[in-house]
Amino acid sequence: ARLSVGLLFGGESPEHEVSIVSARSIAAHLDPARYDVIPMGIARNGVWVLTGDPFARLAAGEQPERGPHPFLPFERGAEATPLPDVFFNAIHGAGGEDGQLQGFLEPLGRPYTGAGLLAMAAGLDKWITKRIWESEGLPVVPYRGLTEEGWARDREGALASIQPLGLPLFVKPANLGSSIGIEKVKRFEDLAPALDRAFRFDRRVLVEQGLEVRELEVAVLGGDDPFVSVVGEVLPAGEFYDFQDKYLDGRSTTRIPADLPAGLQDQVRASAAAAYRALDAYGMARVDFFVDRPTGRLFLNEVNFIPGFTSISMYPKMMEASGVPYPELLTRLIDLAIKRFQQRA
Ligand code: ADP
Ligand code: MG
Ligand code: MG
Repeated sequence: ARLSVGLLFGGESPEHEVSIVSARSIAAHLDPARYDVIPMGIARNGVWVLTGDPFARLAAGEQPERGPHPFLPFERGAEATPLPDVFFNAIHGAGGEDGQLQGFLEPLGRPYTGAGLLAMAAGLDKWITKRIWESEGLPVVPYRGLTEEGWARDREGALASIQPLGLPLFVKPANLGSSIGIEKVKRFEDLAPALDRAFRFDRRVLVEQGLEVRELEVAVLGGDDPFVSVVGEVLPAGEFYDFQDKYLDGRSTTRIPADLPAGLQDQVRASAAAAYRALDAYGMARVDFFVDRPTGRLFLNEVNFIPGFTSISMYPKMMEASGVPYPELLTRLIDLAIKRFQQRA
């Protein structure tokens, strides 16, 4: 039977535009013999755009008013929209990849692609993610976590606790992505101002030892015994893989598969599956690693549960290189969504 697929895209995060591109790609590759695509845009102001051509309306930057019901974020005139058989979530970052959308979809009683609320919320939080991985004995880069109140109460103590990490340092808001708010700090006198800036983005901030790294990525697909792709490598153009490089000038290059000794490949792929399971992931994830160049040591960096998803993004390319072409990947994600939903019912 044909399935109606509610394709969710846009959203309130800075990855709004990226999500539109990801979703256009998904819509173009969903098998028309099996699926009816219903585009469902979320405008920058959080209002769900469900009428007319949501792709065109979001691309034009439309931000319609909310409809009459004060509890619901839908635009006026969307009352007659039917519930799709399954939701396909292509919303990156805050709102789509942090558990909020999952919590909103749960009571609708329809399957949705990707992981559930718990994994999403934990996975977008770099501090919680590290604590879970550490508790499983998985290697993470040495770090300190700070809260805004702790920082305000005892700046000297906080700086002293960070000192042993050495230099350079990476300062990161706990709950963002796309390198937003991330700073590389090369001198201790620059640390306090960098922390002040990071706390404008989030109540909780991480400070990590800055390594000289190779950046490896792996695509994971499935449930508790997932399929793991070949390993890919990103070679950033600048000092680190920042927002500019990711989305604006795209000067970084990629290698799939990465040129790695066989032993390291296996270690990366096994760690990716363990990292995935530890977070109760489901559906898909891109798991990102660092290899410290001087020592050759492998560290988990972070996980992305709604990674860039255009047909030329890393996740689909790594899957493709591992024998899962893009249209099949979409079908597998939908099948997994339905399987997870049935298992819970
Ligand atoms: P985001 O979720 O925004 O992608 P990341 O933690 O992946 O955040 O950091 C973005 C980029 O910053 C990484 O891809 C890498 O280039 C650089 N980076 C982050 N942490 C470190 C670190 N500890 N050592 C060296 N480079 C880092
Ligand atoms: Mg990220
Ligand atoms: Mg990253």
